[in-house]
This record gives sequence, structure tokens and C-alpha cells, in this order.
Amino acid sequence: MQKTFHCRISTTEVFACLCSGMTGQERSEEKSECMSLSPMMEAVPAPPESERVCVFGTGDLGRSLGLRLLQAGYGVVFGSRRPHSSSSLLPHGAQVLGHAAASQSAHLIFIAVQREHYDFLVPLANQLKGKVLVDLSNNLRKNQYPEANAEYLQSLVPGAEVVKGFNTLSAWSLQNGPSDANRQVYICGESVEAKQAVIAVATKLGFSALDQGFLSVARELEDFPLRLFPQWRLPLRISIGLSAAFFFYLLVRYVIYAYVTQGEDISFRIMVSLANQVCPIVSLIMLSLCYLPGVLASFLQLYRGTKYRRFPDWLDRWMLCRKQLGLLSLGFAFLHVLYTLIIPIRSKVLILFSGTLMFWVTEHTVSLIRENRTTMFDTTTAWHDDSYLSLGILGFGMYVLLGITSLPSVINALSWREFSFVQSKLGHLTLLLCTAHTYLYGWNRFLSSSTYKWYTPPGYMLCLVLPSVVLLLKLLLITPCVDRTITRIRQGWERGADQRNPKDSQPLIP
Ligand code: NAP
Repeated sequence: MQKTFHCRISTTEVFACLCSGMTGQERSEEKSECMSLSPMMEAVPAPPESERVCVFGTGDLGRSLGLRLLQAGYGVVFGSRRPHSSSSLLPHGAQVLGHAAASQSAHLIFIAVQREHYDFLVPLANQLKGKVLVDLSNNLRKNQYPEANAEYLQSLVPGAEVVKGFNTLSAWSLQNGPSDANRQVYICGESVEAKQAVIAVATKLGFSALDQGFLSVARELEDFPLRLFPQWRLPLRISIGLSAAFFFYLLVRYVIYAYVTQGEDISFRIMVSLANQVCPIVSLIMLSLCYLPGVLASFLQLYRGTKYRRFPDWLDRWMLCRKQLGLLSLGFAFLHVLYTLIIPIRSKVLILFSGTLMFWVTEHTVSLIRENRTTMFDTTTAWHDDSYLSLGILGFGMYVLLGITSLPSVINALSWREFSFVQSKLGHLTLLLCTAHTYLYGWNRFLSSSTYKWYTPPGYMLCLVLPSVVLLLKLLLITPCVDRTITRIRQGWERGADQRNPKDSQPLIP
């Protein structure tokens, strides 16, 4: 790498000082700090100020951002405490100067320095007057400081226009280029012109900038990178709770029951057979939980006779995590398919799922020959088996379709009607298919007393309760008279609106 660390007075100085308006003495002081990282740059005229940006801080983010800015055609001037020593890792073609000189070379300055060190900007307050300062900083945890970092920066440099932005990108993603990284940057700030300048840079770098409003939103943007799957928490807790509860329930009913009553050790079933029972149970319950809040909301609107009243908070929260509930239920369905597919290759056993019998295929055949017996082909059983498998396959296919249509890129390609058709109509159809698949699985065992070990129903019976309730309620909602009323309510009709005192209705915005 060709890099010069001698400070030659030429373009470097022109770069640093021409537009700085500094005195001769200041210039000569800065001269000792300034340097070019590319000797070639000395022959190239400096880009105009509008095409030049400054980055304070030569750390991970500063360097990555500088590289992207250079690639996008901007002239980049780094402001550093130690321009000489920090230069070795900086991208080729950038300039590195002391903070004061660097700040004079561009109108837009990215502050890629930790918030704790912002006080170095106080002595520069005069030079930064009128400049646009982009605050990139994040915190280690929420509410770490009383005010947002961007607001703190604004208080330190009141003459500058502070814009919060780019903090949701990582140094790594910036280095990897636009194709391999988040494409959106969020910005906020008081000055429209300052935000426009930042948006212009973001657009040139290949990002789409989303203006979030005033600087008071900065704290929200700073909390953004600290989020840890907020909408997944409740669905994850539900799925873990259900899995654990059904796992222990089935463990007692099958493994412990067999050991206590017959002295038989079938603990090996825990790994595959038991898991393959827990997964579809949890999947079906989660799918029902995905559609239950919508049904409850419809009944609530019917009961209230209006849509202009807030749903209770718990219902609101529940409705907001329906997508996550659905995706987790798809995950469990997928595991069920995988477990089912590996069962035949697991060992040379054929497992009959009632959990009561396990035949060695060969032994069964041999015993038939010995006893000179033949098993008659039973058409009813064949119909049952094929229908059970077919409904399961169809249900899983629809599940996958629902999962695909919940991807943002697919949602963007669908009209609202298409999306609601897939997610609501096909969603309920999926629930119906999977429920029917489970009913067929139970088949005539519902009536057999041997099914109720220790007087407890099997897991698949328990898991049928919720989807059956949801489907029944949905059936009620789509009957013509109820559907007509619900449609009218959703179009703004209110029951008894003429007699009602407006003060009685609870506002939608509290
Ligand atoms: P970093 O690697 O620690 O670099 C920070 C730079 O700040 C240093 O290289 C140093 O540059 C300068 N600095 C350090 N102490 C200073 C002081 N007392 N006075 C003035 N300048 C000082 O940090 P970073 O990872 O680049 O992050 C910089 C900011 O961006 C942080 O606020 C961070 O929260 C935010 N951020 C980082 C990322 C990321 O992926 N790294 C992503 C989003 C946001 P000089 O030695 O050249 O002065």
C-alpha cells in the first residue's frame, strides 16, 4: 500500500484549509496534523463541498462508512484525535485531519464516536455552527442515559443541525455492500434541510431513508438495535409452555404408564415417537391461537354493535403476534413431517400409533403363516388411512402457503384482498384440514375405553378442543345473518347510534 505519512503542503492543505477560512497560524498548526492516505489524491482536484463528507472517528463504523462513501463517489475527510497514527487502517483515498480542520472541509459530518466522548465537540462548537451533524451512536442498554444521544449532542453543539440516523446499520453490513445488508435507514431531526441532505447521502449509498420525524424520536431509533425479538416473546413462551406441558403429559401416559402397569421399558420412544406426538399437538393449538383472537374480536364487535371502541389490551397484543404464532406453528408442523418421514427408516419396527402395540413386521408375517391365517383387506381402514394421510399432506401444503405469504416481499406483491383471502379464508381452511386430519387419527379410538389410560384422554384429543371451538365460532360468524351484521359494523354502522350519548363511547385514542 502506498501511503504517505509526511504532511506536504499541497492539496492536503488546500483540502483542509481552503474552505476553512482559518488564519495562517491555525493553518500551520493544522498542517502538522493533516495527511493524505493517497498520494494520487494530490493530483486530483478536491471534490466540491457538497460532494465531500466528514467522518469524526476512525473506529469500526467510521472506517466502514468512509469506505462506502468513497465507493459512492464522495470525498471523505476523517476527523481524528491522532491523524498520523489512525491513518493506517483507513480506506484508500480518504483524507485524515484533526477534528477542527476536518470539520471545515464538509457541510455534513458523521459522528462515529461513542457518546461518552462527545465532550470533545464542545470546543469545536463555533466551527460546527450551521453544519449538519449525523449522530450514529447507540447505547449498550435501554434508558442508559436520561436523554437520547442525539438530543445530548444537540445540547453540546446548539448551533449545529443534529440528525439521528444510520445507527441501525452495523459496520459489518456497511462493509458488505448494499446487496448483503439492511436496505433501510431511519432518520429524525428538527431541520428539514438537514434531513434532506442526509437522505441524499443515504440514497446515493443505496439505502432507502425513512424520515421518522423530529429529534424526539431519536431515543426510539437508539433503542431499535437493542430489540430482542419483542413480538416473538409471547408466541415463544406459549410454544415452549405447551411443548413442556404436553411432553410431560404424554411421558406419564405412555412411558411411565407402560412401566408401572406392564413393567415395560419403552423410554426409547421419548426421542422420536413422543416428540412426533408433541409437535403436531403444539402446532394445531398454536394455529388455533392464531385465528382465535380474530374470531373473539368479531364477537366483541357484534356484542358492542360498533367497531369504534378499543379492544382490550390483551386482545390487541394477542392480535399483533398472530404472524409469529402462525410461523411457530408452521415450524412445529414441519418437525412433525420430518419425524414422520424418518419413522420408517428408524429401525425395522412398524409402530402403530395407538401407542398400545408394537409389531415386528417379520414376526407378524411369520405368525400369520404358522397359524395359516390371512388378513382380509379392509376397504374402510384403507379409506381411513388414505384420507388421514391425504388431509395431513394437504394441511401441510396450505401451512407452507400461509408461511410464504407472510414474507414481507410476498406481502408487498399482493393486494389487500389477495392477502386477506390467503391469510383468513385459506388460513381457516388449513385449520379445518389439520383438525380433520387429527380427528381421523383418533378415528374409532375416541370410543375405546383402553384409550383413556389412568382415566386421562390422549394428547391429540385434548388438542382438538381449541381448533374445534374456533371452527365452530367461525362457522357461526359466516352464517349469512351474522356475517351481514359484522360487515355493516366494519363499514361504520353502529347499533343504536341515534340514541347513544357520544360521551358513552370510549375513544380509540386514549
Ligand atoms: P470504536 O471502534 O470504538 O471507534 C470510535 C472512535 O471514536 C475511535 O476510533 C476514535 O477515533 C474516536 N474516539 C475514541 N475516544 C475518543 C475521544 N475521547 N474523543 C474523541 N474521539 C474519540 O466505535 P465504533 O464501533 O466505530 O462506533 C462508533 C459509534 O457508532 C458508537 O457510538 C456506536 O454506538 C455507533 N455504532 C456502531 C456500530 C458498529 O457496528 N460498530 C453500528 C451502529 C452504531 P480516533 O482515534 O480517530 O479519534
